[in-house]
Amino acid sequence: MNDRAAQTAALTAYARGFFHYRPPLSVADWAQSSVELSGRVTEQSGPYSLALHPYVAEVLETIRNPNVKRVSLCWGSQTAKTTSFYVMLGYVIDQKPQPILWVFPNAALCKTFSSDRWMPFCRESKVIDKHLPRNNEGGIDSDRFTLQKQEFDRCTMNLVGAGSSANVRSYPIAVLVLDEIDVIPEATRRECLDRIKGKQDFKVLQSSTPISEAGGIWQEFQEGDRRRFYVPCPHCGEMMVFRWKNDEGDLNLQWDEAAKNEDGSHDLALVARSTFYRCEGCEGKIVDTQKLRAMKAGRWIAGSKTAELGVRSYHLNSFYSPVITFGRMAVEFLKSQATVDGIRSFVNGWLAEPWRPETGGLINPDAFKQLQGDYQRGDLKGDYRIIGADVQRDHFVWIVRGFDRDGRSYLIDEGTCPSFEDFTQLIASYSISYGIIDTGYRTQEIYEQIHAARPFWFGAKGWEKMPTSYRMSKLDPFTPDQKRARSTINLLHINKNIWGQEMLKKRSGQSMNWHVYDGIGVEYIRQMLSTNLVERVNKRGKTVLEWAVEGHRQDHFWDCETYVLALSHVFGLGGAIIRDETSEPKPRPRKRPQAERPRSNFWKK
Ligand SMILES: [Zn+2]
Repeated sequence: MNDRAAQTAALTAYARGFFHYRPPLSVADWAQSSVELSGRVTEQSGPYSLALHPYVAEVLETIRNPNVKRVSLCWGSQTAKTTSFYVMLGYVIDQKPQPILWVFPNAALCKTFSSDRWMPFCRESKVIDKHLPRNNEGGIDSDRFTLQKQEFDRCTMNLVGAGSSANVRSYPIAVLVLDEIDVIPEATRRECLDRIKGKQDFKVLQSSTPISEAGGIWQEFQEGDRRRFYVPCPHCGEMMVFRWKNDEGDLNLQWDEAAKNEDGSHDLALVARSTFYRCEGCEGKIVDTQKLRAMKAGRWIAGSKTAELGVRSYHLNSFYSPVITFGRMAVEFLKSQATVDGIRSFVNGWLAEPWRPETGGLINPDAFKQLQGDYQRGDLKGDYRIIGADVQRDHFVWIVRGFDRDGRSYLIDEGTCPSFEDFTQLIASYSISYGIIDTGYRTQEIYEQIHAARPFWFGAKGWEKMPTSYRMSKLDPFTPDQKRARSTINLLHINKNIWGQEMLKKRSGQSMNWHVYDGIGVEYIRQMLSTNLVERVNKRGKTVLEWAVEGHRQDHFWDCETYVLALSHVFGLGGAIIRDETSEPKPRPRKRPQAERPRSNFWKK
């Protein structure tokens, strides 16, 4: 090859470099090459790295994947879930500009978060900083970069506190972020989700540690494809998830037995030093350094194949946190045992699971009377009232309960009546907004009654097993072929196990927002106390919890109360765990016609 040919070849190779195909960066690559985290945002400040959080890579990628519409993170403490959201939003701002709305449980939290964490993150990451609005002097334009609204060069981000359901309606959204959803009022969350429905290109990012089994992130996890992070056991190589107990109910963590003192207390320092994780397959002893190595070889595996396409849900407990050792986990568990609240927050925060009451606290009639409020039978309590009815062979059993918006509720009246027509009088005198009635018995007749009085009544159908806490469906009582159905009624399918457990919390006074009138009758109390979750030992010698109705007692009031509780939740009445104290602006008049779904006009009379 002569000089000239060599030169040409070199030039060609050089030129090819320009046109060389570069695959688009994965979000993880983008983040690790361009995002900086300051000490204000995270404990691991410096260039963003996934070295300690390998499980985040797949989650980050969902922001770029057009097929993923909804991402729910049911993650425990110290697992970097909020930081993952920053990075995903940073990617949107830098690579895929679209309007963003981030909703917080309340206005105060929204402002603190924005000023202390989000805005510093934007300013201190060069890759975001270059998109910030500038003034004429080249500085950041503080009129367009504010606590609640940031006008980046190609997209805008709004941050709002939940509480006033009116205010989420006015924002453009393509990317919706709901962090800590278990403390965002259910009505607000539904409203946000409704806003985004019907859009072509949207993304919903939700996260929380779970609080209730009936709603929030736990239900989002159930509705999604239920991914869990599997890692190879360093001993047997079997793919496994880190979890608290094995199928037999034994702890997977073990520590030196000498750590237990004679009085039942523990030498926590010895626990911290000696704890290891035992593989469920080979019983091999896994220590913290092996955990970090195993995580690098981990992968997400979906637990459900029937989830709606594009609905991803990820569960991760604090075992996976790079900053929480097995010993720390054991110590936190032992410390939590002192109080019920302690156990509950350990289960919610560290195991990322909803708290299940052990047996619901069998309570005696005198204890039940503590639920009596300072009002009389028939007093018109609550902003809205719901009637619940159970169907018997020749009569109906019913209860009327009043609800405040935050979910506080009051039993107003209860009783029995011989015919369906008798409800008309009751509905008028207590100005009841909606009713729910069992459809398990005298089914066709009840369907037709519901139809005649629609949309007031909802039919209730209880299930022993269903994947979600509830599901609403429509049914035409007159057309056997439901595909050609014309005039439909609403049927609420209720997960009896979940709502039974919610009912137990109400009954035991745990939730402190469920009341009965002063001087409540013996029969109502008897029926409400006859249903219990009891421990039984099954054939395989395993202890299981089962629902049982005492003796041959009836529990119709229990059923009525459970239906009403589930329906109130559908309406968003019980979802508000934090009450927003700020004054709410008056809701703007709705443009939509009023006739459609019950939820829309539920707040009106
Ligand atoms: Zn093993």
